[in-house]
Amino acid sequence: MKALVCQQPGSFEYVEKERPAIQPGRAILKVKRIGICGTDLHAFEGTQPYFVYPRVLGHELGCEIVQVDADAGFEVGERVTLIPYFNCGECIACRNGLPNCCAAINVFGVHVDGGMMEYISVPTSALLHGGDMSFDELALVEPLAIGAHGIRRAGVRSGEFVLVIGAGPIGLGIIEFGRIAGGQVIAMDVNDTRLNFCKDKLKVQHTINPLNEDVMQRLKEITNGDMPTVVIDATGNQKAINSAFLYMAHGARYVLVGLQKGELIVAHPEFHKREATLMSSRNATQEDFDHVMMCMRNKLVDPSTYITHRVQFDAVKDNFKSWLDPKNGVIKAMVEV
Ligand SMILES: [Zn+2]
Ligand SMILES: [Zn+2]
Repeated sequence: MKALVCQQPGSFEYVEKERPAIQPGRAILKVKRIGICGTDLHAFEGTQPYFVYPRVLGHELGCEIVQVDADAGFEVGERVTLIPYFNCGECIACRNGLPNCCAAINVFGVHVDGGMMEYISVPTSALLHGGDMSFDELALVEPLAIGAHGIRRAGVRSGEFVLVIGAGPIGLGIIEFGRIAGGQVIAMDVNDTRLNFCKDKLKVQHTINPLNEDVMQRLKEITNGDMPTVVIDATGNQKAINSAFLYMAHGARYVLVGLQKGELIVAHPEFHKREATLMSSRNATQEDFDHVMMCMRNKLVDPSTYITHRVQFDAVKDNFKSWLDPKNGVIKAMVEV
């Protein structure tokens, strides 16, 4: 079978690999769709922390089961997606029901080889029944689950203002699940195309472009002087993350979904006087995946509108670089295998 290997930053190669053999507790899946994510792009660029090469990327997957144990609760031919965060089951986080931040986590396509190949072997415990959802939809569950988890971390309440900074694929999921939780969402991004997408497709009422608007003043106008009680970063941009401490209302929560390599810098008195809460939000749990799939099935969210680029598996190598360029307007690239 064919696999696409990221040999080192900036270099992909198609290689022939042996098709994985069935093992107890695991299933063999035929990969049908691979969503391309910021993590994949950063891994290719060489800017992803803790990344080791060579690596097969890809963790947003829509698949069909080709082999599985008879008593696993899944059928051959069934459509599935997977929770790509393989946890140890023993560490303090796992023991406390937080497999998403397992101390020894192996993310499929990050710490171990992922889904950019024709067949994969995964633990059946990671599988989720896809029912009649399309392969495209199944490949879009994981990025949305990241957003749903961030909103759940924030504990968004009905009617409160939620500022979402960064309107890329992860930010869009946060925006959608913020709305579903009843929040009044404000979308901020430096890219007007993305803000227009939020207004036109996601019906976001308030958008801010910090490049040509006074952010503090606009936030005050929108929130009647209160400022947002929830701020969520989905940029992973150090300057954006540090600036956003000042956008919080007194008593607000700030959730970091985006990740960057540098320091968090905040004036302690600014943070302190707000009695603010700062949280990180890592990956997602089954509860988030189930919530996302329920919302997709009930048409509360239609992430297929995020797909701006579509290629066959053979063409990934030639197209991947172009997805890094913001000029090409990529929101979500989808690979058909
Ligand atoms: Zn992803
Ligand atoms: Zn663990």
